[in-house]
This record gives sequence, C-alpha cells and structure tokens, in this order.
Amino acid sequence: MSTMKAVTVYGPRDARMEDVAKPAAVGDMVVIKVLRTGVCATDQSIYTGESSFIRSGEIVYPCRFGHEYAGVVESVGPAVTKFKAGDRVYSDNFVSCGECEACMRGDYISCSKLQSVGTVNCWDGCYAEYMQIPERHVFLLPDELSMDEGALIEPASISYDAFKGVELSKEDTAVVFGTGAIGMVAVWLAKYYGAGKVILVGRSHSKIEIGKKVGADVVINGRECDVIEAIKAETDGKGADLIIETSGSAEALRQSLLAVKRFGRISIVSFYEKNLDDLPIDPIVLGCVTVRGAAGNAGNAPAVCEIMRKNPIKLTPIVTHHVPFADCLDVFENEEKYRSTKIKIMIKFD
Ligand SMILES: [Zn+2]
Ligand SMILES: [Zn+2]
Repeated sequence: MSTMKAVTVYGPRDARMEDVAKPAAVGDMVVIKVLRTGVCATDQSIYTGESSFIRSGEIVYPCRFGHEYAGVVESVGPAVTKFKAGDRVYSDNFVSCGECEACMRGDYISCSKLQSVGTVNCWDGCYAEYMQIPERHVFLLPDELSMDEGALIEPASISYDAFKGVELSKEDTAVVFGTGAIGMVAVWLAKYYGAGKVILVGRSHSKIEIGKKVGADVVINGRECDVIEAIKAETDGKGADLIIETSGSAEALRQSLLAVKRFGRISIVSFYEKNLDDLPIDPIVLGCVTVRGAAGNAGNAPAVCEIMRKNPIKLTPIVTHHVPFADCLDVFENEEKYRSTKIKIMIKFD
C-alpha cells in the first residue's frame, strides 16, 4: 500500500501529520497532487475547537481538514473522460454521492448524502499530498492562472455569493467590512462589477494597504475615526448602496446597519461565534434595507475562475505568506506569530 503525508485534527489543539493511505484512482475518481492549500479561518477554528460546527456536532474529530487547494492530476480512474495526468486543476468544496435522485438530475448541491471537503460531514481534506475527488467536481485551471490563484478560487467563491442579484454602477458606493481573504475578495469583486467607489473598513494598517492593491478606492481605519461618519462623508451623507460585512464583529454589523443608505443592501458573509445583543433593527425597517446572508453555492467556483481570468486586477497580493507543507502545523500551533500580518497563508507542496 502506498502512503502519503496528511494532517488530521484529533481534538482541540491536537493536529498531527501522519502517514496515511494514498487515495486510489478508482471509478470516476481523479487523484490530484496538491500543490497549494490555503489556510482558512474555519481551519483554525476546527484546530482550536472554537468552531460553532464543532459545538453543534456537525464537524467531528478526527477531522482531515482543509478545503482550499489547487494541484495537478496525478492519475484518473477508468471511468474518467475529461481529465488526464498532468492537467492543472481545482475542485468544488463539496462532494455529492452521484447516485441519489438529486444527483441523477445533476443537482449535486441538493445531494441527500452531500459531504463538504474538510468540514461538515467531512470528505478528506487538502492538508495532504494527494486529494481524491469525483470527476464531476473537478475543473481545469486555465494556463494563465497560477496555483496560488487556483487555491484562491474557493474562498473567492464564498464572497461571490454576496453579489448575487446586485447591480452596481458608477454612481454606487460599496463598503466592505473586514480585511481577511473574504473581505479582500469582496473589494476585488465590487470593483470588477463596476462600483464607482469601493471603501474598505479595517483595523490593521498593513492589511488595509493591501486592500488598495485589489481595488479599494478609499480605506477607513476603524481605530482612527468614526466609521459611520466617515462612510456618510464619502457618500454625500446618503450612506452606502451595498455593504458587505465579512468581519464577524458585532460592532461592524451594527455600523453596517447605520451606514447603509435607504433601500440599500447588506450582505453578510461571516460567521458570528455567538448571538448578538443590542443590534439596532429599526434602521432595517425604516430604511427598507435588504439584509441577505451569503455562504457560497454550487457553480460559483467556475464563475469565479472566469472572473479571475478576465479581471485586470490580480487577487494575489492577498497571499501574505507561503509556508512549506512540512511546517504547516506551525501555522496552527503558533497562530499568534502570523495574526497581525496574515491575510491568506498558502501551504506549498513544491
Ligand atoms: Zn474556507
Ligand atoms: Zn447524491
């Protein structure tokens, strides 16, 4: 039996790199040699045990985590028709059974036995040298995109959902709260979709500066000024047309409700680890504000890949660190070392 290295989380703050069975190219499976794995805040919360999915029992230990990756096809099962060894690829972050009624209709996200890569109802994740994924969930990475960009497609596909049903024009102002990867992608997409002014609100000077490289026209440091007043000043007192809240902070959500314009919209793309008190609800009612949650969806990944190909603004400035796979436990065990400067950490396998 051939083996590979993979990381499994056995319990809070107990992650181990081990030799495990290397996945086999059977049936319609594509075996991918992983070249980049992106480190997600969800991975960190699975490692610490603070994830609400751990508390709810939806993610269980031991967990082979990791869900953001890109790589090269190593081998394919006999039923695979669209891929061959050497193809550069990425995949969906979920895996369907391929046999139930929904799967038969091609509606894989409604699969009755749906698994998520590296998280809920866990399909073995990508802190591993190889991944095994059914062909229907694998996509070619265009030649002009790098492996870093390939591994950014998954987190980008989460932010992408925040723009569903939104039309942005030169007259519109979009405000993004949060300087993590999801917030940075929201800035990048707001600019791509044509918002006249994109404002990024954060609290770290170095991260805000990176926001300017991916499309922010104006940056607001929440440590230095009154955020609501600053947004009003940038919008002739009207407030923002679209606010995308990615920070998971109660304060940012409160500010969003008070800085959105009448008939404006707020997209929430974040998890709040606890329920929030003291949220002002009346501004939603009086302002006829639309509040919508967004958490990713089937079909997003190829759409985001296409935007990456077309957008003259590169998303790669948000990759702040490259860490060799051999050292990847350090990212979790010594998270404070990276905290103040990290946006997206990429684990490198080559
Ligand atoms: Zn993620
Ligand atoms: Zn199914």
